[in-house]
Amino acid sequence: MAVAVPDQSPAHGSEGGRCRACGGSFERAFEAEIMGELTVTYHRCVRCESLMLLDPDWLDRAYARDLVPNPDSGALRRTLFVSRFIRRLRGTGLIPRSYRSLDYGCNVGMLVRLQRDRGADAWGYDRYATPKFAEQYCSQQPPAVEPKFDLVTCIEVIEHTVDPVDVLKSFRAMVKDEGLVVVSTELVDGQGDLSKWSYLALEHGQHITFFSSAGFTTALEAAGLVWLASFSLHGIRLPLIVPNALGPSERAARTIEYPTSTSPAASPSRMLAAFFRMRRAALCSDWASTG
Ligand SMILES: [Zn+2]
Repeated sequence: MAVAVPDQSPAHGSEGGRCRACGGSFERAFEAEIMGELTVTYHRCVRCESLMLLDPDWLDRAYARDLVPNPDSGALRRTLFVSRFIRRLRGTGLIPRSYRSLDYGCNVGMLVRLQRDRGADAWGYDRYATPKFAEQYCSQQPPAVEPKFDLVTCIEVIEHTVDPVDVLKSFRAMVKDEGLVVVSTELVDGQGDLSKWSYLALEHGQHITFFSSAGFTTALEAAGLVWLASFSLHGIRLPLIVPNALGPSERAARTIEYPTSTSPAASPSRMLAAFFRMRRAALCSDWASTG
């Protein structure tokens, strides 16, 4: 993907100046003030156009702050949406009726609790938050690789990470070959003037990695995952991701082009059939019923 910005300067710092998504080099994009006190420089990858803040040595401070009111007013609505999405994954056979799941970056543990209330073997991990809704099922320690999960969710978390490919690799290691990964994050594609993008979340300074569609695809591939398709509804985008457990010839035989998706991908035909059945019949009506 070409980028016509002539003023390239090498990125600096301990990260080595390489894009966290694709390993490409950077150009300076713009400066902004985060947390009302610190001027930072955003860099954009010249290869995949992902945007990021390098060497974020302010993160401990950023997470120690308790913003009142909390700017993330959509957290409850988003969690209910994802909970319904998971119920449809189960109802259509994309995950087993009796499934084991991990919510990576579980925050207060609400999604873990909602799944547990419906009988799922749900677990959570969050390095920073207190999971008051499901404390006995959540940990601040990274989860073990075994036993593997049928489903890994990562909702509004990957943009907080300095090592997203390593995080995605950990998902691949933790999820079954026939399992699913659901990662929500906003992409830079089509956002216009990125310096005015609300998803930068300048007030809390915790968003540091913003994928482009191309960068996200590349990062997933590096982690052994495949972007199947995305739900995007009412401002929430939910990429549905599967382990790349098929060989190249099998994958090629099952590749389907998605005319409405930004990321054509491959998947077993059983998953595709269930996916489209779910989208057509269930999700939109469920969303409407949340008011
Ligand atoms: Zn890149």
